[in-house]
Amino acid sequence: MNRALVHAMSRPTTIVKDPARLRLPPNYQPEQSGAFSWEQARKQLAGLPAGRGLNIAHEAVDRHVMAGRGDKVALRFVKKSGAPEDLSYTTLQRRTNRFANALRALKVAPGERVFSLLGRQPELYVAALGALKAKAVFCPLFSAFGPEPITTRMSIGEARVLVTTAKLYDKKVRPIRAALPALRHVILVGEGAVGADGSTLAWSALLDTASDRFEIPPTSPEDPSIMHFTSGTTGKPKGALHVHGAVVVHQLTGRVVLDLHDDDVFWCTADPGWVTGTSYGIIAPLTCGVTSVVDEADFDAERWYRILDEQKVSVWYTAPTAVRMLMKAGAEVPKRFDLSSLRFAGSVGEPLNPEAVWWGAEVLGLPFHDNWWQTETGGIMIANLAALPIKPGSMGKPIPGIEAAVVEKSEDGKHVTVLGAPDVEGELALRPGWPSMFRQYVKEEERTRKCFVDGWYLTGDLVKKDADGYFWFVGRADDVIKSSGHLIGPFEVESALMEHPAVAEAGVIGVPDAVAGNLIKAFVVLRPGQTANEALNFDVLGFARTRLGPTVAPKTIAFVADLPKTKSGKIMRRLLKARELGLPEGDTSTLEGAAT
Ligand code: AMP
Repeated sequence: MNRALVHAMSRPTTIVKDPARLRLPPNYQPEQSGAFSWEQARKQLAGLPAGRGLNIAHEAVDRHVMAGRGDKVALRFVKKSGAPEDLSYTTLQRRTNRFANALRALKVAPGERVFSLLGRQPELYVAALGALKAKAVFCPLFSAFGPEPITTRMSIGEARVLVTTAKLYDKKVRPIRAALPALRHVILVGEGAVGADGSTLAWSALLDTASDRFEIPPTSPEDPSIMHFTSGTTGKPKGALHVHGAVVVHQLTGRVVLDLHDDDVFWCTADPGWVTGTSYGIIAPLTCGVTSVVDEADFDAERWYRILDEQKVSVWYTAPTAVRMLMKAGAEVPKRFDLSSLRFAGSVGEPLNPEAVWWGAEVLGLPFHDNWWQTETGGIMIANLAALPIKPGSMGKPIPGIEAAVVEKSEDGKHVTVLGAPDVEGELALRPGWPSMFRQYVKEEERTRKCFVDGWYLTGDLVKKDADGYFWFVGRADDVIKSSGHLIGPFEVESALMEHPAVAEAGVIGVPDAVAGNLIKAFVVLRPGQTANEALNFDVLGFARTRLGPTVAPKTIAFVADLPKTKSGKIMRRLLKARELGLPEGDTSTLEGAAT
């Protein structure tokens, strides 16, 4: 183990960092930081000139240029070839101004939705920040989604504009465009034919003819900014709507949790199709004025170490699945690279095994700092802070301004009781009111309302809090599945499977996996007259993959005669899972066919 940075009090409960050996003093020392207020945190931001409000894109881009930092590299893209492409804050300002002007010319009104379906390429980042300048609501979609998740999300979000590539458009959107009546403009990035019939527009032509000067209109912190889709156990995905005021949390957590200092080179490995890739792959680092690295390629252990080495990454924010894949690649690979620039590593998205934290300490020379948040919270809420000891396996403590508790819901779901004693399992609840809290699931009043009970926001996660105030993840209170860091709603997968002509019913669960956390498994009941065999299994798997894309589709399918259901007809996924894993079946009194 690398004793230069950490020493173990007693493995595996606590890692105490030796302050004398940290390369930079942490930005935030809880015991010395005094009283916290959101007003104070807001003062760390510039605000629009002449008191015209608070706009994310101004904080992320324009204010750095106005302060004379325009030449600094804002975004460094590492192309698939490995070559870097830099965008300075000034270049980013000009390009985002052009895109904002283009949207205005297309008569996109404030609050209308601009979707992107792009890989991690410069245009995605320009579209995000340009849309925010024009006060449109930006909605990034993961480029590996199949046509089904794309249609659902663009319909719920009433997409006005889509920015994508000709290849993705032809493959995934053109066939479903008729089902998207609100969609007015499709803007195609890069090479490829633009429809002579005017059905698509060329990004380059639009931007070339637009002015690179743009004045951001007055923006209230309550104006909508970004919509991210998240999954529930039942029903369609939910569009969680965020506001411009969220940038207060992005800036704060960039400094306090990720410990960003002015000269840092930061790398968030998440894709902006998921909330981490937007909040921490775009907004937080730019708002903190650092250089942010974006890798355009997919995971590859050697490539990742090379990026850490060549780009001299000092602060790294990644996810447990990636850490486990690096561990699998072996401890020899990092030895071939110079990782001496790295001084802080964070992880989010799934439970981070204590072994992974220790592996970081021993092999990379610094432990991973796990932290917790979700789409609805908009930013990090609970964290192992740079200045505090790490408890491997724990998500850490609430950040300043956040009140978190372990609660129990009453049976009717209308009340909660706070469980004050340490080490008691219950649902994680947060006191509403932090600036990056989602404001609603669009067009889903009932589902929004259900999250707020007795003055608490209920997260859907089961946790414990120890006597030192550290939170420990136990599991989900519902049936949503985390697979390779992606939150997947079983209902969406089941619905797609049921569109296969041979499928009568499907029940979907996550099966624990050492690397991905969970793998999606579907139990399928066939229609009468269909025969369960390998060819059909293969066919249904392929069908799901084409519809849903590789991330969301099941990895395995089992044909079964029937599915366990409640008396009211709901699939008991909990029971499917218990049976799959050979665990006790628990309370089955509501099971269809059970004695009443
Ligand atoms: P998403 O909304 O897609 O970001 O997913 C949020 C969910 O991911 C949370 O509700 C948790 O279930 C899980 N999650 C996020 N961070 C952690 C963490 N550090 N440890 C355990 N689970 C996590």
